[in-house]
Amino acid sequence: MQFSETVRMESLTTTEIERALSDGVRTVIVGVGSIEQHGPQLPLSMDASYGDELSRRIALELGDALAAPVIRPGCSGHHMDFPGTISIPPETLMATIEGYCRSLDEHGFGEIVLVPTHGGNFAPIQTVVPELSRSIDASILPIADIDAHMEILCDEFSAAGIEYEQTVLHAGAIETAIMLAIDAGLVNTDAFEVGHEGDVPVSTLLSDGMAAITENGVLGDPHPATADAGELLLDRVTEEYAAMIEERRA
Ligand SMILES: [Zn+2]
Repeated sequence: MQFSETVRMESLTTTEIERALSDGVRTVIVGVGSIEQHGPQLPLSMDASYGDELSRRIALELGDALAAPVIRPGCSGHHMDFPGTISIPPETLMATIEGYCRSLDEHGFGEIVLVPTHGGNFAPIQTVVPELSRSIDASILPIADIDAHMEILCDEFSAAGIEYEQTVLHAGAIETAIMLAIDAGLVNTDAFEVGHEGDVPVSTLLSDGMAAITENGVLGDPHPATADAGELLLDRVTEEYAAMIEERRA
């Protein structure tokens, strides 16, 4: 079995987890995604697939970490006008995160990194972490600065030679590129449609709902997306996040 497969906790046996812990693995990366509409071209799993892939890559980059099963549904109330979206209340997401952290802590993991890949999950993560951190031995690192995350993605997309000015991401070129890199078979490449263009404050998205802003569920234009650009984005976010984790350990 390749190591790249073995960092995914859910594909390991309990014996292998026990061995990893006794070999000194202390860190678990937990992606926190969503199941929600991503326009006519991307699957509902976009954010969950991204969280799954990103946590796997970060664990590999660190070399001494595992990737937990990604938390698939998130807080997507603002996408509920679009069929297929499955949203859970913030309290449920927070309780799920608490269950993950308490379980991992009990097994002896010392460092839990929360990686949200859906905008609606950042605030619940920031809410639940402080008190939870005080009640378990493991340290919890939420990488939950949405502006910083978007900045990395937008900078890297521009660096890849693709003009990109949108700062709120949803089902546009950046997410489409990431999905093309993860699993091109899940991208409906003949259904690319331009959505709402121009900046939208996140607060408006959350309070008015996506349907009030974009009829097809897309922000921006997916057309510039390429698998190569998606690969660069995944590499860059992985490096930045792994560096943040290592910096905190130092
Ligand atoms: Zn998304």
